[in-house]
Amino acid sequence: MSAFYHSCRYFLLPVLFVAGALAAISFYQVNLQQWQQIIDQLPYWLLTAAIIIALQFNRSRLGYLALLLLGYYFYSTELASSAEQQLYWQQILLGGGLVISWFAFIKDRGVLSPHFFIRLIGITVCMAASFFWVWFNTEYQQQLDDYLPANGQINFRVLLPLYLCVSLVWILGLWRANLVHTSIFISLILWGAHFLAPELVALSISMTLLAALYILTVLSDSYFLAYRDELTGLASRRALFNLVLSLGRKYSVAMVDIDHFKKFNDTYGHDVGDQVLKLVASKIAAVRGGGKAFRYGGEEFTIIFSRKDVQSVLEHLEAVREAVEDYDIVLRDEQRKSQSKATRSKDQSRNQFKTVSVTISIGVAEHENGETFEQTMKRSDQALYKAKKKGRNQVCS
Ligand code: GH3
Ligand code: MG
Ligand code: MG
Repeated sequence: MSAFYHSCRYFLLPVLFVAGALAAISFYQVNLQQWQQIIDQLPYWLLTAAIIIALQFNRSRLGYLALLLLGYYFYSTELASSAEQQLYWQQILLGGGLVISWFAFIKDRGVLSPHFFIRLIGITVCMAASFFWVWFNTEYQQQLDDYLPANGQINFRVLLPLYLCVSLVWILGLWRANLVHTSIFISLILWGAHFLAPELVALSISMTLLAALYILTVLSDSYFLAYRDELTGLASRRALFNLVLSLGRKYSVAMVDIDHFKKFNDTYGHDVGDQVLKLVASKIAAVRGGGKAFRYGGEEFTIIFSRKDVQSVLEHLEAVREAVEDYDIVLRDEQRKSQSKATRSKDQSRNQFKTVSVTISIGVAEHENGETFEQTMKRSDQALYKAKKKGRNQVCS
């Protein structure tokens, strides 16, 4: 999966989805007014559900965030007078923004661990820093005006750390696109919008949206963990056996194994082996003829062709085999690890483009009446063994 596609899928798409939801809500605002009482209660229910689900699946950052948002929602709707809120709005905006951004850069850790106290200290430091920053800007307003004039209703000098945070989290969201980072980025934007453009979206709506986003993030992340192979991005063995349940009578199963991969690892190291595994997986995933690829385990893959007989899939498997064989894998700066920095830069041009290649063997079998999936797979494994015996780099049925 290219980096661009990855960013689109895990960053841009959710951002557009939330923006679309907000646009739809503001469009139907008048119709929603009759449900106002329910809408005001929704954040309590959904944020509580988000906390429970996030902690259940060890997504502690989203759990903490949902808890903080719940606390703020309660404070702002039930506890604080509007005068109090107006007095401290800059501090709360900044402090909350810092906390949300900080969460983008730390890891998910167990709630019942010493990390809980570190989170607590971190939150306190963020709030204290924002109170200090606002105080500093008021106290030294005149001196600061000489360096960085700040006129107008919104004091951009006070909000400078927030802009920095938004930029950093945005870059992180694009660079390391995943649903947790994207959720945190969207939280930061809606948090800022609540204070700086409150007429744009009601707090109950943004809190409800964020809670729904957290729940969806945790659930789809867990689905991915269970059904996707982390290294190659292919569907996992568990997904394979899930698919088997929906297979009809007619299908073909291909088993793919990289040739002499142990030797390859021994020669180039396990890390290079992993990179090659990823590249080979991408070629196998591109199989045509309706084939669906899975990482069965190690350097073995399975391809299922639903409603296809062996004869009709042979050409597609042959195409995959050829694609892997023809693929020159470029190893950049091959001796990187073993060289010191000084010699590395001198030798860089010599070492930069070493190419290697690997081959694969494939065995394929077609489901026969009365056979279980495991039995068909066993026959495709035997065909693979035949391909290996006949000299590898070939397809056997
Ligand atoms: P053959 O042609 O008979 O298949 O020879 P082979 O060396 O590939 O033999 P086999 O399939 O039994 O070897 C499996 C090797 O694949 C063992 C291990 O070194 C390597 N391997 C398995 N999983 C991984 C992985 O996730 N990463 C890396 N780098 N290597 C792996
Ligand atoms: Mg093997
Ligand atoms: Mg092998």
